[in-house]
Amino acid sequence: MSKKYVYLFSEGNANMRELLGGKGANLAEMTNIGLPVPQGFTITTEACTQYYEDGRKISPEIQAEIMEYITKMEGITGKKFGDLENPLLVSVRSGARASMPGMMDTILNLGLNEDVVEVMAKKSGNPRWAWDCYRRFIQMYSDVVMEVGKKYFEQLIDQMKEARGVTQDVELTAEDLKELAGQFKAEYKSKIGTDFPTDPKEQLMGAVQAVFRSWDNPRANVYRRDNDIPYSWGTAVNVQSMAFGNMGDDCGTGVAFTRNPATGEKKLFGEFLTNAQGEDVVAGVRTPMPISQMAEKFPEAFAQFQNVCHLLENHYHDMQDMEFTVENGRLYMLQTRNGKRTPAAALKIACDLVDEGQISEKQAVAMIDPRSLDTLLHPQFDAEVLKKTPVIGSALAASPGAACGKIVFTADDAKAWAERGEKVVLVRLETSPEDIEGMKAAQGILTVRGGMTSHAAVVARGMGTCCVSGCGAIKMDEENKCFELGGKVFHEGDWLSLDGSTGKIYDGAIPTVDASIGGEFGRVMGWADKYRRLKVRTNADTPHDAAQARTFGAEGIGLCRTEHMFFDEDRIPAIREMICSDTVEQREKALAKLEPMQQGDFEGIYEAMEGLPVTIRFLDPPLHEFVPTEEADIEKLAADMGKTVTEIKAIIAGLHEFNPMMGHRGCRLAVTYPEIAAMQTRAVIKAALNVQAKHPDWTMVPEIMIPLVGEVKELKYVKSVVVETADKLIKEAGSDMKYLVGTMIEIPRAALTADEIAKQADFFSFGTNDLTQMTFGFSRDDAGKFLDAYYDRKIYENDPFAKLDQTGVGRLVDMACKLGRKTNPDLHLGICGEHGGDPSSVEFCHRTGLDYVSCSPFRVPIARLAAAQAAIKDAQ
Ligand code: PEP
Ligand code: MG
Repeated sequence: MSKKYVYLFSEGNANMRELLGGKGANLAEMTNIGLPVPQGFTITTEACTQYYEDGRKISPEIQAEIMEYITKMEGITGKKFGDLENPLLVSVRSGARASMPGMMDTILNLGLNEDVVEVMAKKSGNPRWAWDCYRRFIQMYSDVVMEVGKKYFEQLIDQMKEARGVTQDVELTAEDLKELAGQFKAEYKSKIGTDFPTDPKEQLMGAVQAVFRSWDNPRANVYRRDNDIPYSWGTAVNVQSMAFGNMGDDCGTGVAFTRNPATGEKKLFGEFLTNAQGEDVVAGVRTPMPISQMAEKFPEAFAQFQNVCHLLENHYHDMQDMEFTVENGRLYMLQTRNGKRTPAAALKIACDLVDEGQISEKQAVAMIDPRSLDTLLHPQFDAEVLKKTPVIGSALAASPGAACGKIVFTADDAKAWAERGEKVVLVRLETSPEDIEGMKAAQGILTVRGGMTSHAAVVARGMGTCCVSGCGAIKMDEENKCFELGGKVFHEGDWLSLDGSTGKIYDGAIPTVDASIGGEFGRVMGWADKYRRLKVRTNADTPHDAAQARTFGAEGIGLCRTEHMFFDEDRIPAIREMICSDTVEQREKALAKLEPMQQGDFEGIYEAMEGLPVTIRFLDPPLHEFVPTEEADIEKLAADMGKTVTEIKAIIAGLHEFNPMMGHRGCRLAVTYPEIAAMQTRAVIKAALNVQAKHPDWTMVPEIMIPLVGEVKELKYVKSVVVETADKLIKEAGSDMKYLVGTMIEIPRAALTADEIAKQADFFSFGTNDLTQMTFGFSRDDAGKFLDAYYDRKIYENDPFAKLDQTGVGRLVDMACKLGRKTNPDLHLGICGEHGGDPSSVEFCHRTGLDYVSCSPFRVPIARLAAAQAAIKDAQ
């Protein structure tokens, strides 16, 4: 039998969401439970996929099936398409598997033409209604199907109102609307070149095609990328017999939520308009009344509606968002879905539903979107002011939260302005370690270059500071301290607002409101912890960040990037000295300066983590990030090292690398200069011994991680330095402290030879930032420049630096886990790339059998929740 592409509402149910889309499945479900639903049918998501496969055409077979269902619908409703006795009018609406509010298209009153409208006018005794329907239909069809554009029609309506001396649409008479319909058709012909279609079948195919096409419109594509909805899903189309809310004063239309979507309060919340059709509520052409007033106007329909709300909540065990129409006092349900809600409301509703006995703890955990927790932990914009403020650009949402401040162009200015009490936004071409203090002082950071794992993004995320990165549209003029964006020039001191959760950039100051975490947050996180298997660690480089992460529930540190400990102004000279040394003696001298700093930091971090595991990664400085570029810094370094400026410049020139990210970094440094590994081992071990002595009840087991290994002999060599140094210190201290030596898997060769490497490693931690970079062969800092073109051409749907590429990079991870455990069954496995805080990647880590994920402090709650959801899904 050939595939079935069309289902009557009475043939479906709520479990058929993949095929019928959310709206179609719920219309079917409401039909099944006996609610008043105008009947119709759903064209499946598979028909949409087929439409794209067939070169954006609806095949003759599918067209025939649709028409067969029109005949069935005629049988059910007793009305006929294009009939002059009893005409059938339908709405045509999109409905994807996951709801995408407002992203795709809708057409109402389809089936009307000049003859049908006359019949309707006469039979109903309500010509105003009939002509109102017709002019709306022409307007929507022209806009949605033929893409003529709304504004021409709105102008005609405004001209008509002006000519009649009225201000409201409802004040226009039947004659006015008839005249408008004529004008609309003329407008259509002038723009399209043909007459407005009169055949309902032609209208229907045009509308279905438009809905399929709208799956690929730019706003839908962006929405999908932001919400992890695959392009391959497609949208279903619902064809439903019309119920009319615009037939008179005993009619109306409304939208309501069973609970307040902003606060979660258990109280009906919504709006209602008499004598109107759905789009009037949405478009805001008239001001609706609160739903409570519906009780006075339509007591019977309201009572029935309240029952429906109750029934639907009990049926779906979740807050419902419903659309309905009242036609001549009778209620019709047009849609129900689990309502979108604010993160705070989501937590309250989940807890209330558990307390009401509607859902289990596991279901509560499963219903919260982990990504939404971000907004609870960071400041947000004042919603009212936000609405009125123009967006001037957008780029990567690199680190969440809202920021508003005056523009500064250098890290020094950021620091100086902040010290005198100004709020600043730091705008840079890109950031480097020297900028760290300015980054700390700024409310937000905006960069022209850099991807999701660029320095700015990684550091900002660690600090919990808002960052929008890779805004290539900025024309930067650093010298004159100004830049151009969105057609406007911004100077130092101008106000700018950034949303690091959406990547949007706003002109002007938008006040922010601080984060607030309610009791429900803790309750839901408590449940999440009960059901997850994966441990959640954090990436933290300072005692402060470590302590912050502990408050968010981190169970250890999965990555301490030791080079980040030298970003501060008073520390960077020592590491520069080390990098620019040309003899072992000089390097030892520089290392002797670094050692106490490191040891002190490690002690602070161990203290903050209270005996929990801490993985310390040995130096992995991309050298170009550290060598001085400013003349003054070069002079200072020369003086410190007793060298001439020319000598230092020569050393710097000698350090130049064509591709520093693939250059002399990671374990390659320790291979060339083993004294670095020896110094770091001393700092790690001595710190651990000291902390152990202070806290005899903790069991200190420091974890040393060697980065960027691609060949087992590299690891073996560096490890020999570590073991020799560590064993000696531990013995001297008369201690029996254990320690682990492991490696990062961030080079494809390491993944491919993981069985060999595992023989030398106590643990693997997947450095998926570099692993992604090297597997794809494009730079983590520069990919932003061309990824947009890849999204537009549907080559990639997501940024692989933000969401783990499970097909390619994931396969390497999976392979390395299996190979590693084969030769070392006790091998401990984790991930510390930025993907460790991304929900879909966390789910992958769970499935792949990792022991833990590690992410920046503010993403720890997201990872805890995502890990629980993965475990719950797995058990089902
Ligand atoms: C990685 O490569 O995934 C990683 C965590 O290391 P870094 O980002 O410091 O290169
Ligand atoms: Mg790395």
